[in-house]
Amino acid sequence: MSGFWLRIDPTGCVDGSVREDVAGQLAEDAHKGFTPRVADRRKEAAAGWRVELVDRAGFDAIKPCLYGRCEHGRATA
Ligand SMILES: [Zn+2]
Repeated sequence: MSGFWLRIDPTGCVDGSVREDVAGQLAEDAHKGFTPRVADRRKEAAAGWRVELVDRAGFDAIKPCLYGRCEHGRATA
């Protein structure tokens, strides 16, 4: 399957995405792509950031986040 890795902030909002066929099949590799430094990755994981794989339907579902039109803690934006 060619899915999409999502970078999700602690509020559940998707901050970025990368195609699985570009980033690879491991969450670690995908996270590396988003956040190159291991110290930063550890900080993010501790703070509640996640990297998750979704299919096309899942990707469509989070598009509002990518376009800044979601309800994740952005009421003031
Ligand atoms: Zn969002």
